[in-house]
Formats: sequence, structure tokens, C-alpha cells
Amino acid sequence: MAYKIDPAKCIGCHTCMGVCPAMAISDSPDGKCVIDPTKCMGCGTCAAVCPMAAIAPEAK
Ligand code: SF4
Ligand code: SF4
Repeated sequence: MAYKIDPAKCIGCHTCMGVCPAMAISDSPDGKCVIDPTKCMGCGTCAAVCPMAAIAPEAK
């Protein structure tokens, strides 16, 4: 299951980018981060480090 970043909560700190073992997170032109669902392996590491609790498993 892929995780997803809520752009309304993300402050663009990029902390999540540095911890993703799958390199699934990149920054977008608006400065916020986005997760590539085709690369995310659902480990939850990014969600654990996000200071804004902006990352959660994508609802089905
Ligand atoms: S760690 Fe959270 S607030 Fe920081 S860039 Fe990632 S999703 Fe946004
Ligand atoms: S859940 Fe794991 S694999 Fe998916 S984006 Fe977050 S850190 Fe990367």
C-alpha cells in the first residue's frame, strides 16, 4: 500500500525525502513533497518522521 502526502499539511521541510529507502519521494514545484505510488513500498518510515503528520497510508 502506498503512502500519500497531504499537501495542506506539508510544510516542505524535506525530512521525508532523506529517509525513504525506496527513493519514492521527490519535491514538487510548489516546494512540497510528493510520493510516487509506483515506487512506495509502504514501509511507513516517512510518516514516522514527518513533523506535521502530513503522511498517511492512501485510502483505498
Ligand atoms: S516530512 Fe512532512 S512536512 Fe516535511 S516535506 Fe515531508 S511530508 Fe512535508
Ligand atoms: S512509506 Fe516508505 S517507501 Fe513509501 S514513501 Fe514513505 S518511506 Fe518511502
